[in-house]
Amino acid sequence: MVTIDKESGFCFGVVTAIQKAEEELHNSGSLYCLGDIVHNGQEVDRLASMGLKTIDHQQLEQLHGVKVLLRAHGEPPSTYEKARQNDICIIDASCPVVLGLQKRIRKQYEAIRGREDCQIVIFGKPGHAEVVGLEGQTDNTAIVIEHLQDVDRLDLSKNTYLFSQTTKDVEEFARIVAEIERRFKGQEFVWKDTICRQVSGRSRHIQDFARQNDVVFFVGGKKSSNGKVLFQLCKQANPLSFFISGPEEITDEQIRACKGKAVGICGATSTPLWLMQKCKERLS
Ligand code: SF4
Repeated sequence: MVTIDKESGFCFGVVTAIQKAEEELHNSGSLYCLGDIVHNGQEVDRLASMGLKTIDHQQLEQLHGVKVLLRAHGEPPSTYEKARQNDICIIDASCPVVLGLQKRIRKQYEAIRGREDCQIVIFGKPGHAEVVGLEGQTDNTAIVIEHLQDVDRLDLSKNTYLFSQTTKDVEEFARIVAEIERRFKGQEFVWKDTICRQVSGRSRHIQDFARQNDVVFFVGGKKSSNGKVLFQLCKQANPLSFFISGPEEITDEQIRACKGKAVGICGATSTPLWLMQKCKERLS
């Protein structure tokens, strides 16, 4: 029997961004998107065949008078400013949860702007699009930390305001908070758990799912960092877990080995349901 995990696949932020893109493509047949709309090559190709053109920030500088979609990760203020200068119409598909976080960080930054004894810290992946958008709210003065040991880089005699990228790990965030509290020498340490619950529960769930099946096919894009993390968790829970980008990567030998077994198909937050369904068709 082949089962698709009900909790795998796009979060509502990505679903909404794709719907907005499809709507615009139905109306005008052409749209630019700043960065991959989702970290999944097949989904990007599907939308590209409908007329979506993916561009980077350098290419944005060269465009004038066109429509550009901002994906769910959000963008820093400089992107909106560039669009204004170039008479670009923005279709803003930034996730409302990310926009809310940007606002909170902006508010905190304005409250402490220019104070040498304060620092804003973001628990996130340096260079990740969402983090770039968050740093932009602080005129790029925020300090980004990715791991517990990065706490060593902080000056903990300063008042510290800690936020998290929406897709980071809840437990690692709690460890970082505890470590800062332990070593803190400033007057005020305020932390906000800004991790999105659309994805934070998936780690535990995906391990349960992997254990319930004899063999697991994890479907994900090669560029998806969330996919890499979730696949590792699957593998820990069930060593017979395989990472694939699509049905064509399932070998005949694997299909033979699955005969009579409980086979699970799951994926990252960037994996489209239709792709998991195609994998199921091939296995079935
Ligand atoms: S993970 Fe959460 S915050 Fe991030 S895009 Fe999805 S719904 Fe929005």
